[in-house]
Amino acid sequence: MRFEVSKVLDAIEARLTTDPALARAVVDLSEIVRYADLDGGRPASMLRLGLVIDALGRHVSEENVPVYAVVPRGLLSDADLTSNERMVVRRWADDGVVEVVPQLDDRVLEVAELLGLPVLTRTRAEQFRDRRPWVEEPGRLLAAVPGAGGPVLVARIGRGEVPAVAEPSPMGAKLLARVWSCPEANCNAYGSGGDPDSPFADMRKTTAPVAQPPPSLRSGAPTCPRHGTRLRDAGPRPAVEVLSVRIDGVVRQRFVVSTDKPVVVGRAPEGGGVMLGQWLTDDARKWISRGHVRLALNGGELTAQDVSTNGTGIRPGGSVDDDDRITLNRDETRILAANDVVELYAGVNVGRAKLWATGGVTQPSSVMAEAPTMAIRKFER
Ligand SMILES: [Zn+2]
Repeated sequence: MRFEVSKVLDAIEARLTTDPALARAVVDLSEIVRYADLDGGRPASMLRLGLVIDALGRHVSEENVPVYAVVPRGLLSDADLTSNERMVVRRWADDGVVEVVPQLDDRVLEVAELLGLPVLTRTRAEQFRDRRPWVEEPGRLLAAVPGAGGPVLVARIGRGEVPAVAEPSPMGAKLLARVWSCPEANCNAYGSGGDPDSPFADMRKTTAPVAQPPPSLRSGAPTCPRHGTRLRDAGPRPAVEVLSVRIDGVVRQRFVVSTDKPVVVGRAPEGGGVMLGQWLTDDARKWISRGHVRLALNGGELTAQDVSTNGTGIRPGGSVDDDDRITLNRDETRILAANDVVELYAGVNVGRAKLWATGGVTQPSSVMAEAPTMAIRKFER
């Protein structure tokens, strides 16, 4: 059983991010692990994070939806978790896939406000109403509660509409336009990575500047949420564009293209990129090259460059009329207008994430697939 739990925790880990461009909701991990009514089990269990992530996927009808988890330091030594679970949270903390804070205060709400994300919580957060009046707005706080097919998200206030596409607050946008630097030597969120010549340099995990989490504001000053130290402005942050891969109407994955990092999409791009192979039909696999199209962001313009054998289609404004389809041949590049859709093969598309309001799937893949039956027993009827 331990092996199975480890596999579930690995699946959950793949859905954790503090990248402002990719996170879709914010959670307090110490709250979620105690939702004993979700599975009728131990006082605290990390598997409940998986149940809540699955509920979010169903809520937005999308595959591979990542969450931003804030972890109060006390959870790292919480005796209600198993020693294996504590070890895993510590590893997540070291790897920077979750954000550890000495005290929770209202950090979860702060992240949600700065990034424009919903909070998955059962509290109504009344004590923070003065500072964060938006907690009273419909749909901003969603509670995971037991449901017939697994936990469902219901709005604390309002009807629980699918949250609109996230837009950072004006202050969030200001903070996310800069790279921040923490004076603490071992800061993985806002670190420089330390001495590059150190024998341990390869072992350090430092968040890329373009993916840094939003700083905390203390008395109006950008502050490291983990160390409580004032952050130094280290210059402008590279611009980003969030894109989605959509295959036969289902959004499979979101990814980020930044001014300093173009991304290749294909069947199995060499040297990294977005790998589509697992989602393609045999015919599509034959047609689509290992590396098929290269997306880049230059001077505020998103471009697509064909790097394939068979060429890349562009559908201006998402047009479904084949007469409008433009073919890029090898090495040709085109600027993508706001609603343009890249077509690698019929039904295999890439476009700005905002183009598609829903992920197009009613039952997204569960992170709990490997869970011991005990943990999900409640939902099998
Ligand atoms: Zn720090």
